[in-house]
Amino acid sequence: MQITEIYRSLQGESSYAGLPCVFVRLTGCNLRCTWCDSEYTFSGGEKMSLQEVEAEVRRLAPSGLVEITGGEPLLQEREAVPLMERLLALGYTVLLETSGERPLENVPPQVIKIVDVKCPHSGEFGTFREESLASLTARDEVKFVLADRADYEFARDFTRQHDLVSRVRSVIFSPAFRKDARGARDSSHCLLDPQQLAQWILEDGLEVRLGMQIHKFIWEPSTKGV
Ligand code: SF4
Repeated sequence: MQITEIYRSLQGESSYAGLPCVFVRLTGCNLRCTWCDSEYTFSGGEKMSLQEVEAEVRRLAPSGLVEITGGEPLLQEREAVPLMERLLALGYTVLLETSGERPLENVPPQVIKIVDVKCPHSGEFGTFREESLASLTARDEVKFVLADRADYEFARDFTRQHDLVSRVRSVIFSPAFRKDARGARDSSHCLLDPQQLAQWILEDGLEVRLGMQIHKFIWEPSTKGV
């Protein structure tokens, strides 16, 4: 597998936010989101065998949470699926962060899928594979990264249209973060003011979670490997 980095930190997003987690970040992505903060994963990386990845995960944490992320990890599905199966067999709770552009059918059902449905401002609108809705279960999560009112309205309407709240464990509306953010560890870097987003969610009576990327508030926003 082509791996950009493997490290242990705190989970910054999803309903697992705040928990210690080992991140396995795979190299390569076929999308180019305007606010992407992981462009360093698009190329490079190191070739590692499944056994080497597993050994590194075990060295960093003998149990707990592991997230398979990228880039787009399912571009390496042939290796990523056996890795997930192996980590599950070892007793880890496995999260998979994916754009939803790749098929999800072969992901082991015990894996918690966190699917990032792209909104208009992302520049990759329409890439979510709607057939994948059938693969989502009550353990999975759907995330929308929002930069403006048009993104919010798309996410709101999509959530209602597909009854996401009763379909998955958590629907997350998350303000997009400026990709060139430096310095202050506060919400001034959000493209959409979280207070505004909170107001819209409450006004519309949505049962969704407002998600902040807490790693951007703990560490300096440009820090990698956290
Ligand atoms: S799918 Fe993820 S890694 Fe790929 S460009 Fe979008 S934000 Fe970046």
